[in-house]
Amino acid sequence: MTSRSDLPRLSRYRVEALLECPVWEPGPGSPAANFGKAAHRALELWANDPAAEVAACIAAGVAETQGFPAERHDELVRMVTQYAGNREHPREGGWAVATEVEMERTADGIAVLSGIADRCDTLPDEGAVRIVDYKTGWSAVKEPESAPFQVLFYAGLASRLHLAAEWFRVEIHALQTGWVHSWDLGVEDVEEWWQGMAERLGDVLANPDKRPTGGPACGFCKKRWECGAAVTALAHAPTTDAEAEEVIRETVRLEAAADERKKALRAYMDKREATTIAGVRLGYELSKPAVRVLDKERALALGVAELSKPSPRWAMK
Ligand code: SF4
Repeated sequence: MTSRSDLPRLSRYRVEALLECPVWEPGPGSPAANFGKAAHRALELWANDPAAEVAACIAAGVAETQGFPAERHDELVRMVTQYAGNREHPREGGWAVATEVEMERTADGIAVLSGIADRCDTLPDEGAVRIVDYKTGWSAVKEPESAPFQVLFYAGLASRLHLAAEWFRVEIHALQTGWVHSWDLGVEDVEEWWQGMAERLGDVLANPDKRPTGGPACGFCKKRWECGAAVTALAHAPTTDAEAEEVIRETVRLEAAADERKKALRAYMDKREATTIAGVRLGYELSKPAVRVLDKERALALGVAELSKPSPRWAMK
């Protein structure tokens, strides 16, 4: 039997991505990820010290985050200040608070699965466990219909840390809007979900014929610029008028966005030589033929070829 130390170690993020696409590869930290990192650090400092000034926590979060996007500083201050100002401190009511809690659990001899909860609060006398996850992106504003993968996964991990707990409350705090989504999950339901998830993961890891399948994980995948399947999620056909309206609005916005991006590229290439970037030919090129004899007889008499004015051509396939 394979020992625990021989098993692959997979984070929550990686497991979720692998179940969406078996050939997902993590990409480098984006400015958005660094924005989120600074916010998480600021809130970690705040949760650990009720007397801490929120402004000082934000300043520390920014200072400790390499690659923090400076142009989003005011947005960070507004977001974290509003969040912390509009609610009780997590330690109110006798909760014991732990931040950046590392949890792990073996999945049926397949892998050791792990996750880091932003916050794990416990009420020692009542055996209650509250797991909190902060979201800093705008996509977190939608009301999820059912408990998302991450919520169930964290509850599954937490059940190994808190063996006496009979249920778990998992909360997603959307910092941009202040919305809190909350799920109360019984231990049995969590266990049933965990077994199903582990089975699917075992299939993915054992399947040698892996193909990209697309999905939300594409946004964080290193291959997303080359992978044709990266747009698969967009092919989802609407099933209601409301969904159709969303698709229409998104299409209008994307077309306008594509136009703006092309203009931006034109401005960038305006004073540069034509070149190929990421397999795409960019820039102004001479239309062919670049040298044209306008009048053959006259040219022969002069002994030169008369040059036509080259007409530049913008090329972007
Ligand atoms: S970009 Fe391609 S390989 Fe990456 S997650 Fe999406 S579908 Fe998979």
